[in-house]
Amino acid sequence: MTARPFAARCRIMPLAQALAPVVDLIFPPRCPLCGEGLSMQSGLCAACWSDLVIPGEPACALCQRPFDESVSAGAICAPCMAQPPRHDGIAAGTLYNDASRRLVLTFKHGRRIALAPMMARLMASRLPAIDEGWLVVPVPLHRWRLWRRGFNQAALLAREVSRLRGGTLAVDLLARRKATPSLGGLGRKARARTLSGVIALKRGAAERVKGASVVLVDDVLTSGATTNACVSALKRAGASRVTICCFARVLEEAGPPR
Ligand SMILES: [Zn+2]
Ligand SMILES: [Zn+2]
Repeated sequence: MTARPFAARCRIMPLAQALAPVVDLIFPPRCPLCGEGLSMQSGLCAACWSDLVIPGEPACALCQRPFDESVSAGAICAPCMAQPPRHDGIAAGTLYNDASRRLVLTFKHGRRIALAPMMARLMASRLPAIDEGWLVVPVPLHRWRLWRRGFNQAALLAREVSRLRGGTLAVDLLARRKATPSLGGLGRKARARTLSGVIALKRGAAERVKGASVVLVDDVLTSGATTNACVSALKRAGASRVTICCFARVLEEAGPPR
């Protein structure tokens, strides 16, 4: 008689799952936004969930900006009409509002990196079908900022998105060559000027990018200046398509991020 595999005999469960009851006992789970008690460690309370705004249909055929009223299929929004985007679509988990802003701040500056899987689930559910052939690429941080913060929030989200959707995580394709100041308060042209030449492919990355389909991941999509610089670098290197995937998308009507 052949022996059953070790795992089958022992019914091994993932460590995090095995430890969850102990962790819950020591740190009772709380909603990261309002502090309300929760039954599980990951997630938000029902009230905070309902404060998140998921982009709906109908939406622009090029950038998925939601339209207020019904439009014919294939309709394109005014910003895309004025300047056709270089990307091939935007998959946003939520629209930027007070709840998503506080969630991003808690994740990024409050160092609650355990929020990444929950945020990535919202993002991944908005992506069209992708497969192993796709590269999942985070928007890069400058190495000083990475050193100060200790992690790249976009890379954590990209890792979870690739786990959920099956693309190949590629964290080492793009580099931010200069530390750029905050882009808040700058106009579209000034933002583009500030970022020109800042994002580049790392040495040896061009071969992987040529002909590839890419999901470009960031936490917040504001004016798109940074992601556009990434899209341009990827397309110059021959990427066949680049879909942007973000957690919170700022629409102009919602005002600039604070
Ligand atoms: Zn809450
Ligand atoms: Zn559009």
